[in-house]
Amino acid sequence: MSIDRFGRNINYMRISLTDKCNLRCVYCMPEDMTFRPRDSLLQDEEIYRLVDIFAGLGFNKFRLTGGEPTVRANVVEIVENIAKTPGVDTVAITTNGLMLDKLAQPLADAGCQRVNISIDTLNPEKFKKLTRWGDVQDVWAGIHASQEAGLGVKLNCVVVRGYNDTDDVVDLARLTLFQPWQIRFIEMMPFGNVSDFQLAGIVSEDELLETIGRSLGPPQLVNKGRLDGEARLYRLEEGIGTLGFISSVTKPFCAGCNRARLTADGRLRLCLLRDKEVNLMTPMRNGATDDELIEIIEKAIWWKPWGHGLGEDVIPLNRVMSEIGG
Ligand code: SAM
Repeated sequence: MSIDRFGRNINYMRISLTDKCNLRCVYCMPEDMTFRPRDSLLQDEEIYRLVDIFAGLGFNKFRLTGGEPTVRANVVEIVENIAKTPGVDTVAITTNGLMLDKLAQPLADAGCQRVNISIDTLNPEKFKKLTRWGDVQDVWAGIHASQEAGLGVKLNCVVVRGYNDTDDVVDLARLTLFQPWQIRFIEMMPFGNVSDFQLAGIVSEDELLETIGRSLGPPQLVNKGRLDGEARLYRLEEGIGTLGFISSVTKPFCAGCNRARLTADGRLRLCLLRDKEVNLMTPMRNGATDDELIEIIEKAIWWKPWGHGLGEDVIPLNRVMSEIGG
């Protein structure tokens, strides 16, 4: 087990496979984003070595993210290798869904169990505006392909004031009347470099509940508010799916955080919203043994920050979200 100094069991690793993405969501990265050269990213064997080490330290849940994880050409092979690592129980992917039409079945066959698919609005024009060029029909095709492949499906919607905080949220919530999905509304988190999208753009869970309630009736709290991962769940009166709210800013859940993140360039990041990172890539490329890497990782986990500092206006500045993976 990997326990931090506050007694939290850290067993969930999110690995960014690449910083590249085939969209440019306005709150995630600038349009003219510069990507890292390929050789500065973790190579397949380096990822497998670290997964082996993490699994040995008690990490049993792995999520692949990006950038966009499906733009890494051999994502299916990577999933397959991680899924068969002793100690790994779950492999999931967070994706914009554009490639799932073709990849959902191979990913499921390789051992991926779940996909979280980002879809901020069902409205084609607004989708294009938010993603800067995406076609929402491609995401729909990916959602259906994932269902057919037997993958667990959750939909992620980052709500941005002035973009998708009214009808769009209601339209997405309405899907749970007909589909068994969890639709998750994520409070936008501020990152230094995406400076147009700061705290003023955040739409709180309470405000969203009111907006949804006005059109579809008040959502009812599920499980007495116990979080499902990081999401507080609600259900519409006739709903077969659930509404999840990930309210990192207005209702932080740091006390129960069990996550660590590995960036595509091999840095271990212990809090999404804190800049401090521990470099694993350099020691690994300089010949560190597994025992030496384990020592570095255990020390980093022990010092995992208690929580983010948004309440004190501490905003992460060294990377934008696409470089960390969400
Ligand atoms: N490309 C993939 C995708 O679209 O899901 C994976 C990477 S993306 C960085 C992971 C998640 O982070 C997505 O659900 C995305 O909407 C969310 N995200 C990106 N920027 C964010 C921000 N500033 N605040 C909150 N969530 C954000």
